[in-house]
Amino acid sequence: MAGVRVGNRIIGTEAPVTVGWENVPKVQGGPWKVAFFTYFQPASLLALLAFWYYAPNSIATAQTAIIISLSFRAFLIALEFMAPRHRSWMLTWKEAVTDLFYVGMGYTVVRMMGAYLGDDVIIEAVQGAADWSKLDWFAGMPLLIQALAISLLFDFGQYWMHRGMHNWYPLWLTHAPHHYITQLNINKGAVGNPVELFLIGLGVGGFFDFLPRAALLAGTFGLAIGTYQHINVRFNTPGWWRFLFNTTEHHSVHHSQDYEASRSNYGSTWIIFDRLFGTCVDGEAEKLGMEGGRRMTISEAMHFPFSEGYNTTKQWLRAKFHKPSAVPAE
Ligand SMILES: [Zn+2]
Ligand SMILES: [Zn+2]
Repeated sequence: MAGVRVGNRIIGTEAPVTVGWENVPKVQGGPWKVAFFTYFQPASLLALLAFWYYAPNSIATAQTAIIISLSFRAFLIALEFMAPRHRSWMLTWKEAVTDLFYVGMGYTVVRMMGAYLGDDVIIEAVQGAADWSKLDWFAGMPLLIQALAISLLFDFGQYWMHRGMHNWYPLWLTHAPHHYITQLNINKGAVGNPVELFLIGLGVGGFFDFLPRAALLAGTFGLAIGTYQHINVRFNTPGWWRFLFNTTEHHSVHHSQDYEASRSNYGSTWIIFDRLFGTCVDGEAEKLGMEGGRRMTISEAMHFPFSEGYNTTKQWLRAKFHKPSAVPAE
């Protein structure tokens, strides 16, 4: 395959990748259908932000956030059935059962981390370690600015953690299982080794609890934008949205079977850090996964970081200490 030049890299020599928005297909159909798939994303983001901005304190709770998150995701799953982006990404029973396992595991790991490292413990440590009255200037800023700052700061950390995972072998071992998925749907964000979940969640849980409303608003950016990373629905996403935010198109390139393509679009909610640091590729891919799309079993995903790390270390030691005797001595 010839591939396409993006910056100083050639994308798509190993597997097909569509590069450039002008080459990505648009939603076809009547005016209502096109309008829905054009305005759904911005409208739901605005509605959710408005809700968290104006809701009284009795309603603006973490429990409401969980109910909204679950209903929003249930609606998106229905949308995936009605308007799949790629037939090859349609949910099968096997995929559905696997997803269910990982989503369940995700909740369990997060709950266990909450039990051992409860929010109150973290908050106490954080509040004890710093003089938070110095942050009064932050709490005095308009709510939306606070929320934007939290979301951007969080995504900046995620960007470098994710980029680190693709560039440093020990971290890659924890992230590799996520790259064996061969299709996208909104539950695929949960697929991977639990060590990765821990690394991604590191130091984030409950950190901003001293600014609850701003944190709930920041969480809305994650829910109403980040969720679309792994969705099997085609939207006519507006140009400004694609410029600012990560999309299923960007993330499908990241999951491409093409190695160069997979080394791009590291952001979670925002894509602007990829634009800033030169790792953004605007486009999409349908053929996803590793090793030509080999499906990794759940048990392999659980032990992969350890077994693969062990094998690599063994090979490395063997190569270091058992040099071939054919090498002449000087
Ligand atoms: Zn990745
Ligand atoms: Zn992913």
